Amino acid sequence: MLKDLSPLVSLCKRRGYIFPSSEIYGGLAACWDYGPLGVQFKMNVKQCWWKEMTHRQDIVGLDSSILMHPKVWKASGHVDEFSDPLVDCRDCRFRFRLEEKIKTCPHCGSKNLTEPREFNLMFKTHAGPVEEEASQVYLRPETAQGIYVNFLNVQSSMRKKIPFGIAQIGKAFRNEITVGNFIFRCREFGQMEMQYFVHPEKASEFFEYWKEQRKKFLLDVGLPEKSLRVHEHGKNELAHYAHKAVDFEFLFPMGWKELEGIHHRGDFDLKQHQKWSGKKLSYFDADRGETYLPYVIETSIGLDRLILSLLCSAYREEKVKEETRVLLALNFRLAPIQVAVLPLSKKSQLKELAEKISGSLMKKWRVEQDESGSIGKRYRRQDEIGTPFCVTIDFDSLEDNKVTVRHRDTMRQDRLSVNHLEKYLIDRLST
Ligand code: ATP
Repeated sequence: MLKDLSPLVSLCKRRGYIFPSSEIYGGLAACWDYGPLGVQFKMNVKQCWWKEMTHRQDIVGLDSSILMHPKVWKASGHVDEFSDPLVDCRDCRFRFRLEEKIKTCPHCGSKNLTEPREFNLMFKTHAGPVEEEASQVYLRPETAQGIYVNFLNVQSSMRKKIPFGIAQIGKAFRNEITVGNFIFRCREFGQMEMQYFVHPEKASEFFEYWKEQRKKFLLDVGLPEKSLRVHEHGKNELAHYAHKAVDFEFLFPMGWKELEGIHHRGDFDLKQHQKWSGKKLSYFDADRGETYLPYVIETSIGLDRLILSLLCSAYREEKVKEETRVLLALNFRLAPIQVAVLPLSKKSQLKELAEKISGSLMKKWRVEQDESGSIGKRYRRQDEIGTPFCVTIDFDSLEDNKVTVRHRDTMRQDRLSVNHLEKYLIDRLST
């Protein structure tokens, strides 16, 4: 178990997972760039969620725009209510978000603080060439609103019947006051949200259903059960429109923190958009012979936060012959590289055989051929980036057409014929 994030942050930088944004200019707080392995890992996580959500009859996808009509954010409450109380320390001028626990300046300990002022978390910008109030738009602080405003477009174009859901993956932006903890809280981050539209009488039932489904998913992608817990929102925590809400919390090195929220939002969102747009958003249920505004059950998870929880769960340090072996025990499906092909030397015959093998494995899996450095160093690198299997080609391979397969998690080595390699990997990588 990781005690703090620093070894993971440095592994991510060293091995091409995640870099600080604009690093050569000194970086930009709470913004991160995904390197070649990070972007592949992220793509795999997105695909896993997308498949889980949309490979079923009752959920369809959407990709709505980041910039939306400014009234959307009036209707949703974000213009008036999406804010944090901000406090300044009069002694050291440190500015921070007021939380109940904090009564003194976290920087210098002074109690000489200003009254809290509300600070809106939405990023503002302008659409068009004139920077005037009428052209002001916002970068969306959540992806959900794009789903609500398209509820009828999707329902009618896809001929969907209630209950059905709309899933979306996209960027969201929040001008967070307190940032840090690597990619846990960013100002630009990915969200994976699904809004499920139901008959009001069925809402509680579907809330329970989605709680179960989401827990199964989180375990399935590789989070250990002991690092997950459910936090039910008490009356004081609930958003004013929410009927019920739970968070899945994950045990990060900095403690238990929210990873995903499941929210029973009633008809608040559709009602608000109906009011502000003047367009009817109700649904005629032919089976019930009834017209109504559907209720919404939302599942909302931060993509970067899920990535952080997966990396934290996968990070291991082991003592092997007086040395420390670092590995990322990632789910085989999610690992950015699934098979590394390593010719023992740069001799052309070994390289040719390696190319033939990697070319054929590449048709099925994400494969990297690595020829430089000692074999020990190459294994170390593959362990650190989480590659489940290394296929080593040595001089005997040229004679007996056999290769050595090394397992990431156990370091076990199996010698087998090249002809059996594909089947061997299918048996292990498809589980
Ligand atoms: P928090 O209490 O951590 O600020 P929230 O309750 O405001 O989160 P939601 O608005 O419910 O979060 O957003 C849904 C999900 O989006 C969260 O569960 C989290 O995983 C993710 N998320 C929210 N804010 C950020 C952020 N600044 N950086 C990364 N992920 C975030």
